[in-house]
Amino acid sequence: MDSPYPSFAKDAKLAPPVVYYDYIVIGGGTSGCALAGTLSQGGAKVLVLERGGLPYGNPNITNIGGFPATLADTSPTSASQLFLSTDGVFNHRARVLGGGSSINAGFYTRASSDYVVAAGWNPRLVNESYEWVEKKVVFQPPMLSWQSAVRDGLLEAGVSPYNGFTLEHLPGTKVGGTIFDQNGHRHTAADLLEYADPTNISVYLRANSLSNLVQDNTCR
Ligand SMILES: Cc1cc2nc3c(=O)[nH]c(=O)nc-3n(C[C@H](O)[C@H](O)[C@H](O)COP(=O)(O)OP(=O)(O)OC[C@H]3O[C@@H](n4cnc5c(N)ncnc54)[C@H](O)[C@@H]3O)c2cc1C
Repeated sequence: MDSPYPSFAKDAKLAPPVVYYDYIVIGGGTSGCALAGTLSQGGAKVLVLERGGLPYGNPNITNIGGFPATLADTSPTSASQLFLSTDGVFNHRARVLGGGSSINAGFYTRASSDYVVAAGWNPRLVNESYEWVEKKVVFQPPMLSWQSAVRDGLLEAGVSPYNGFTLEHLPGTKVGGTIFDQNGHRHTAADLLEYADPTNISVYLRANSLSNLVQDNTCR
């Protein structure tokens, strides 16, 4: 999209009192945005309710250097929410459109073909889906000194063969994909909403309380 601010994304306070949709996706995260984009592209009328705001315009999200700063921000409006897991481990979860893809380390790989078979998925459809995602948000990373050192360390430790750059899940050492482009700008699952038909999708932001009010495909 030309503007990084999708016209169909609005603050939930602007939601009309009653609206009807074919599908309501609660949580515009990594999978929620992909799902909503797919459904809308297929002609369905889709509502996304996301408790956070937009990832665009926040340099801590959009620039690779801001990755630790987002995680360190524990304020109530941060895109990253600190929480304690049931095992007692501190962790972070996303509170922003794009979900984890807006706050994570950005590594991307396809699943192993064994995994796809075991899950009972259609391999052809899975491959088409990979391409749908990769066209928008996946890049080949530059091999800077840190990346080269990790690669060389793995090879020296005998993790072979060396597969070079590949998005496939292969035994050995490889250079995987990244959602950061050559300029260090993050591309998130929110970008997958560019596939949506803007006339049949609504994305309401800061909508955590609204999502409790969804009943029988009716959002009041
Ligand atoms: C620090 C960190 C680094 C990571 N690095 C990588 C990596 O390099 N590569 C990789 O593949 N994975 C990585 N991950 C994991 C990956 O980001 C997640 O597995 C993935 O994003 C989860 O996707 P999801 O759709 O299940 O959930 P999320 O992407 O978390 O989406 C959930 C969405 O739901 C919203 N939400 C929650 N409750 C409500 C509610 N009540 N109403 C409305 N909205 C709500 C949230 O705000 C969020 O946007 C990392 C994760 C973290 C935390």
